[in-house]
Amino acid sequence: MSIFDHAEFRDHEQVVFAHDPLSGLKAIIAIHNSYLGPALGGLQIHPYRNDAQALGNVLRSSRTMTFKSALADLSHGGGKAVIIADPRYDKTPALLEAMGHLIDSLNGRYIAAEDLGSNAADMQALARVTPHVMGLRNPAGAGGDPSPFTAWGVYNAMRGAVRHALGKEELRGVQVAIQGVGHVGARLARYLHEAGARLVLSDVDSHAVNSLARHVDARVVAPKAIFDVDADIFAPCAMGDVLNAEVCRRLQARIVVGAANDQLAEPACAEQLHARGIVYVPDYVANAGGVIEVAWQRRADNDRRRVMAHIAGIERTLETILERAGREGLPPVAIADRLAEERFVKRHTSAT
Ligand code: NAD
Repeated sequence: MSIFDHAEFRDHEQVVFAHDPLSGLKAIIAIHNSYLGPALGGLQIHPYRNDAQALGNVLRSSRTMTFKSALADLSHGGGKAVIIADPRYDKTPALLEAMGHLIDSLNGRYIAAEDLGSNAADMQALARVTPHVMGLRNPAGAGGDPSPFTAWGVYNAMRGAVRHALGKEELRGVQVAIQGVGHVGARLARYLHEAGARLVLSDVDSHAVNSLARHVDARVVAPKAIFDVDADIFAPCAMGDVLNAEVCRRLQARIVVGAANDQLAEPACAEQLHARGIVYVPDYVANAGGVIEVAWQRRADNDRRRVMAHIAGIERTLETILERAGREGLPPVAIADRLAEERFVKRHTSAT
């Protein structure tokens, strides 16, 4: 397997492979870019089918983190880590200790946070070995679960998208179809309900979706039917790669904005949505709330009001992107990529 020619390699600074036979650790850490500061990104623990799949995922995600942090105005670069293991059976203290030593060996160039398969307790375990970890629960109980902050960011991105695409100053009466009502989707539904939006929900977990629907006066549709809902907004909050050619052809919504990472199954899908007049809000702009909160955990002036205000700034960032995209006749993701690159390349140039 060639690393430098890998389709997702795309200017990575460093990729570390590690194996610890005693604990069984098999891990990869990818640092895409550290121009703006140490690379911050989640630690996934997942039983990938093979190394190639794990590598592809970690490279793609660490690059996305560079763009997410740059647009969220954070002094961090992008990174990501995976432990190839099943979090249900393989997550032993020895495995986490070995991972902690691996992270520590990078001397702060990579900072770990929670992700798929890892939780706040795992971050505490890493923190016994290395200071380069975030997402720790503080004594007041805050920290640990970034999803309320992610949901707040998606909600504010919706406000910006609705103002731009529908000319409405508020979300009252706007119809939103949410795919996936887990940690982020459920919290988003509550924010939207409070704002007077009309909701349509879907989830493969019928108990969870029906119980939430009663609290937020929502209609529930079958998972496959969510793309066909005649809504103003489609909010993907379940899994990645959801926007494939078939879904982009079927979607009825005017705007797509949600929390799921890596929503575009192929880059061409952004063009397809743009050609249909559907505003696609890049996932890494909308779902930056969690990483913003995590980044604030290291700041001495950290307080919840400031964090929420920073996250609410996603609305303005998005409006800048949408205005520029409108002027240049390009899909918003093309402008978002360019704006992010301008930020980290400019900072790099001024630092050298
Ligand atoms: P979660 O696991 O709590 O929720 C996902 C929900 O999607 C679950 O309820 C699941 O049953 C449902 N689901 C799965 N497949 C589905 C399908 N085909 N149709 C409908 N529902 C389906 O995850 P989460 O923390 O809420 O995160 C949601 C998405 O947002 C993920 O893609 C995640 O990577 C991304 N994200 C989350 C955060 C965060 O702070 N949690 C931050 C950035 C990005």
